[in-house]
Amino acid sequence: MIVGVIGGGQLARMMALAGLPLGMEFAFLDPEPDACAGATGELMVGAYDDPSMLDALARKVDVITFDFENVPESSVRALAARVPSLSSARALGVSQDRLREKTLFREIGVPTAEFAPVDTIADLESAVADIGLPAVLKTRRLGYDGKGQVVLRSVDELASGWEAISGAPAILEAFVPFRREVSVIAVRGRDGETAFYPLSENTHRDGILRLAASRPGDPATDAARKLAARLLEELEYVGVLVLELFDTDSGLVANEFAPRVHNSGHWTIEGAQTSQFENHLRAVSGLPLGDTSPIGPAVMLNIVGEAPDTEAVLAVRGAHLHLYGKEPRPGRKIGHVTVRSTEGAGLEIAVQELLALSGVG
Ligand code: AMP
Repeated sequence: MIVGVIGGGQLARMMALAGLPLGMEFAFLDPEPDACAGATGELMVGAYDDPSMLDALARKVDVITFDFENVPESSVRALAARVPSLSSARALGVSQDRLREKTLFREIGVPTAEFAPVDTIADLESAVADIGLPAVLKTRRLGYDGKGQVVLRSVDELASGWEAISGAPAILEAFVPFRREVSVIAVRGRDGETAFYPLSENTHRDGILRLAASRPGDPATDAARKLAARLLEELEYVGVLVLELFDTDSGLVANEFAPRVHNSGHWTIEGAQTSQFENHLRAVSGLPLGDTSPIGPAVMLNIVGEAPDTEAVLAVRGAHLHLYGKEPRPGRKIGHVTVRSTEGAGLEIAVQELLALSGVG
């Protein structure tokens, strides 16, 4: 089986690392000639929306999936007509647009922050009058890792906030006073079977995920799974899908979803019976889903901007290092470390040891 992946970043690379032992081969489409998944399969260098490249990919592979969701929905629909296993065009389209995403949440009864579309500064003023402050102004499209969004705290900040997002089509969301951020990693097979991992509890800094801890037995688990299940069914989704939630005093509030494997699920490589990457591949290729149960608690720490000393990471008991083969750059995710509790070694202590290393967390 040859799996085509649109996007050749670390998610594609980790998918291939999970799929190679299952006898799968990989082809990646990415505009960057040094895309890091290239080490694990054939890299086709070209634009994500280049019809001739998408056509070449479709001819080569049995299954197509994504590590990157900002591919035009129209290109994906055209591909879906040719590669029967590709069923996520709608999920991809909805997740690309925060207005469609929040509207879908509302339609299917998934609680989300109050929101309003904003296309002009006048819209922004009336949205603020309705929703109140503080609020978060976000571009509808192409926002990630905290980019394309600004928190508005007073009416004096409306003009500068509008300028900060360059007047792009946007939404205004009420600011959610959350206690913590969690995500639920869910998978749905072609036959409609679903499975869920333990919740991840996620810590961000400067808009970038730094740490994700698995929380087997977390009290919010059932509620989070119910919401994710609603989304999977509505979208008739196949593969791994991750729903990011705010945990508040009045329950869970959905922030966004990603129709793909996700950074908050990297701990599943060592911390679950079957990783999110393997389960995504199993789902999209019509294979039985793997066991999602945890192998004890695990914590994943991102490596951002600079690589830590390999020896120092590996000296921490229970630590597993994943480097993506990417050039370090400020703010760039270039790897992660997962630490699992081991006999005699405290997980908290190991996490503190890792956090003391430059580049980690
Ligand atoms: P996003 O790009 O929507 O994932 O947002 C990035 C981060 O900004 C989230 O992980 C939260 O920490 C914060 N954030 C986003 N939206 C809101 C909101 N409506 N209220 C409070 N914090 C938010």
